[in-house]
Amino acid sequence: MLLFKKVEQLQKHLKTVRNDLRTIGFVPTMGALHEGHLSLIEAAANRCDFVVCSVFVNPAQFNDDNDLESYPRIPEKDIEALCKSSCNALFYPDVEEVYPKGWTSDAPTDFGYLTQTMEAIHRPGHFEGVAKVVKRLLDIVQPDELFMGQKDFQQCAIVTEMLRRLKMPVEVVCCDTIREKDGLAMSSRNLLLSDQERSKAPALFKSLLLAKDLLDRVSVPEIEQKALELQKLAGFQPEYFSIVDGHNLRPVTDPQQHNFIVACTAAKLGKVRLIDNLILRREF
Ligand code: AMP
Repeated sequence: MLLFKKVEQLQKHLKTVRNDLRTIGFVPTMGALHEGHLSLIEAAANRCDFVVCSVFVNPAQFNDDNDLESYPRIPEKDIEALCKSSCNALFYPDVEEVYPKGWTSDAPTDFGYLTQTMEAIHRPGHFEGVAKVVKRLLDIVQPDELFMGQKDFQQCAIVTEMLRRLKMPVEVVCCDTIREKDGLAMSSRNLLLSDQERSKAPALFKSLLLAKDLLDRVSVPEIEQKALELQKLAGFQPEYFSIVDGHNLRPVTDPQQHNFIVACTAAKLGKVRLIDNLILRREF
């Protein structure tokens, strides 16, 4: 695997890849890699000739300095995991390389309702930072396909909308969430959980399974309330549990009227904030 820290050197190499008419798949990450990230790399390798993964903890998407500081960073382990994977090139830039002095972002920041709900309410400025880094990284890598996780459902929706609006010739491939055996969605933040918190953490997924079980049997507000109760009983401090239309993230009131329904949730266990979601219905 090749390792690039500088934009110029990465671009020089990618030019040779493109000259050979090889397609490029791109997997942006913030490191502390787990099997979820590695599944994106394998998906990219299955569809593209050359796979680029970036590891960059993007300060612009953190709305809390403590969260940025405590975000796990394990570069040696990440490199080791990537070397064993199908990744062809790792882009591992520092902040100045991604955001050079004098550079200004041309990424859109307002995506209508997509940036007015759920994560956008609880993490003000977060998606502006996401759009900024994704646009910048796409401009650098210029991939054919971009691989992202359904784990960050709202992020996938916003990035897809950004590419559509900017008419960027990149296809977004949204990959399934990889989970631990007990259902907990894999996340770099799981490393921050104490043993006691880790044992409580699967309740987040259980609350989503409960919602799936109750859909079409009780009202949506009742489902949301029961899911929140389950989380609280397990020791979570919930931020939101929302049953939304997967096409536009608008709240669902009558499930019969929707062919794509997703339950999305965020909750804190101690100081660690976890998010997860589950598709309750997809009929299209
Ligand atoms: P992150 O490093 O958390 O910014 O995540 C980088 C990419 O990996 C994003 O597209 C995430 O949605 C995706 N991802 C994170 N966790 C998982 C998971 N458990 N399964 C699949 N993809 C994931």
